[in-house]
Amino acid sequence: MFSSKEVFKEEFIEKLESMQGKTVEEATNIDKYQALGHMIREYSNKNWMATNTCYFEKHEKQVYYFSMEFLLGKLMESNLMNLGVRGVCEEGLHELGIRLDDIEAQEPDAGLGNGGLGRLAACFLDSLASLHLPGHGCGIRYKYGLFEQKIVDGYQVELPEYWLKEGNIWEIRRSNLAVEVRFGGEVRMEEQNGRWYFLHEKYESVLAVPYDVPVIGYKNKTVNTLRLWSAESNIRDFDFQTLNKRDYHKILEYKRSVESISELLYPDDSNHEGKILRLKQQYFFVSAGLQSIIRSYRKLEDTLVDFHRKVAIHINDTHPALAIPELMRILMDEEGMDWDEAWKITVQTISYTNHTTLSEALERWPVDIFKPLLPRIYMIVDEINERFCRELWEKYPGDWERIHKMAILADGQVKMAHLAIAGSHSVNGVAEVHTEILKAREMKEFYELSPDKFNNKTNGITHRRWLLNTNPRLAGLITETIGDRWIQHPAELLHLRKAANDNSFQERTAQIKQQNKENLARMIKDKSGLLVDTQSIFDVQVKRLHAYKRQILNVLHIMDLYNRLRANPNLDTVPRTFIFGAKAAPGYHLAKSVIKLINTVAAKVNRDKTIQGKLKIVFLENYRVSLAEKIIPAADISEQISAASKEASGTGNMKFMMNGAITLGTLDGANVEIHREVGDNNIFIFGLTVEEALSCYAGGGYRAKDIYNRDLRIKTVLDQLVNGFFSDDGVQFNDIYYSLLTNNDEFFVLKDFSSYARAHQMVDDAYRNKKRWYEMSIINIAHSGKFSSDRTVSEYAEHIWNIHPVTIS
Ligand SMILES: *Cc1c(COP(=O)(O)O)cnc(C)c1O
Repeated sequence: MFSSKEVFKEEFIEKLESMQGKTVEEATNIDKYQALGHMIREYSNKNWMATNTCYFEKHEKQVYYFSMEFLLGKLMESNLMNLGVRGVCEEGLHELGIRLDDIEAQEPDAGLGNGGLGRLAACFLDSLASLHLPGHGCGIRYKYGLFEQKIVDGYQVELPEYWLKEGNIWEIRRSNLAVEVRFGGEVRMEEQNGRWYFLHEKYESVLAVPYDVPVIGYKNKTVNTLRLWSAESNIRDFDFQTLNKRDYHKILEYKRSVESISELLYPDDSNHEGKILRLKQQYFFVSAGLQSIIRSYRKLEDTLVDFHRKVAIHINDTHPALAIPELMRILMDEEGMDWDEAWKITVQTISYTNHTTLSEALERWPVDIFKPLLPRIYMIVDEINERFCRELWEKYPGDWERIHKMAILADGQVKMAHLAIAGSHSVNGVAEVHTEILKAREMKEFYELSPDKFNNKTNGITHRRWLLNTNPRLAGLITETIGDRWIQHPAELLHLRKAANDNSFQERTAQIKQQNKENLARMIKDKSGLLVDTQSIFDVQVKRLHAYKRQILNVLHIMDLYNRLRANPNLDTVPRTFIFGAKAAPGYHLAKSVIKLINTVAAKVNRDKTIQGKLKIVFLENYRVSLAEKIIPAADISEQISAASKEASGTGNMKFMMNGAITLGTLDGANVEIHREVGDNNIFIFGLTVEEALSCYAGGGYRAKDIYNRDLRIKTVLDQLVNGFFSDDGVQFNDIYYSLLTNNDEFFVLKDFSSYARAHQMVDDAYRNKKRWYEMSIINIAHSGKFSSDRTVSEYAEHIWNIHPVTIS
């Protein structure tokens, strides 16, 4: 159907007729989007089936990436691109008087994630399929993705994101593959022929129904599967005996309570509360996922003794760590294995990625919630803990403190990170410096116990989405210059290095950046009415709002810059446009205050004519993947300013670098490796190092008040938080002021301020020399290949999963 534009046109017209009963003239953009979407899926179905058949017949080892979040964004453009049919499609539609862009604009973002962790899972899926690797995703089909953000009077307002309103063209519901997941009830032990059996009774039965989404590799035949589970009531099995048959309301209530399991994504502020529904979600998708993997494995093998040779299961953070006791349960209770054999298989099957060192983000479940909800799983966790502590006792006799610290069950809590480490053969951090911190601090005792488990896999992003699709002009220039091998071998972007100093290449890179900035400026004008100067430096910070990411440092610096401009309107600065995008978790008050502050400062600054347009501030609402795709290609400066030691890796930093923005950042997370790649002269580094930050924490922090009293610029901006200088609506920012001064600035905002301001001055100086600037920009693009998720996924495949490419015939 995509063999030529003529064939395409014919089939598209037919599809509109058969699906919508409309002609091209009558069809709405949604109709056209649906029709095209179905054509793409039908077209990829052949390869999807071929891929499944091939994996089945060759019985190759497969990996399943378990993640509570998959932040997919839109899929139409990348699917067309990966299938290699976007050109045909665009031309055919053009001849029908339709713009492909208008159709693609209809697609809602699949926002089934909060931020970096969920987007990482989505990038990995693209790389797995594009590298011919047999790897699939397993997650939850949330009815509501991450909330939609509106800004009203400068405040964040959250609206439900009902992304399934028009249906989801990419999914196939497979009710025949539904499985049962059991909650609550009791476990009865029974002895038969010298063996103990564990019978789970009086449980609540939930039906897990899979929705499969094809994951299409780049111009190869591989189509892997993302399986998302939806919770449905199991009315058939409903225990009608226990309630009055006429009590229809009870049935409806049961139905509602079951469906609530896959209703919404928790908006996560890295502050894990022990919410029972979240624990239900975790067990729900992990149990369903494992059951379905084992069911297909069983079609080929009689026993599960070699399970780990054919199946790898990766858990993205500790959210899916219940895969460990659940696999134990299946191997023992359903397959009849003894503990030792089941444990050996489980550990060899499972691997775990840690994503944070923030202690408030470590998941812990109160036993009071855990045990009644998952009685059999609790028994198994209890036994894992028992045996683990016994092993520790043998290794460290008498060292109660250490054993208590490492225990999986302690202080009335299930410690999910400890379970994940004990129950897997590989534990990895997501950037070198992060992995070193894990080994030296957070997980020190575990590292000492089993050093071989620990390894680093620096994160990556799919350069196909984040460069080829989102910045087609730059991608075109690159291909023209070094050929198109970089699309499948991103390390080859390094060939651009030799063009970094070439005048005409620099000029063309600059022109493309300029066009991208004009596009973004147009969007800003449309959305907010604000005119921004496209000759100004586009200085961008887009990411979740969190204290450790220090949007507040950025704002305080802008306030200071504004003060200096007011004092001296002739101050010689290159005009700047500061662009923000960020969602704050609904219950995270400080983060929401920062959003209000940004908008408050913006309102005053953007109106002030005396500063001669040298400073503009834009807050773009509802930051999400599709908005990131529009912002990042237009950025000159990438703000990656987390408090050293707090950002595990970051992936936004990689997207910006790949699009030619220069990083202004701390030596934290993957910034350290970006710095190493591009060298001192092609990045703006400031602030405390990880080592300095950690030793400062170890010494009990520093005195923020001293800096406040000593530095007039800092004192002025902090006072402006609470003296009404910026707010015409009388709003004060006492909470921010308090966190910095009274609460002693946990994230070194004041301590890093002057170093940050100096770095901004260096940006200003550097931007005046355009030749040098674009040399820097090109060097960043050239070295961004290392940060492709193709590299990351290859490392996981080789060192952790032991899986190999499979060519689909
Ligand atoms: C990449 C990405 C992130 C992660 O950004 P960081 O700067 O690494 O925190 C968050 N949200 C969206 C929508 C993204 O695309």
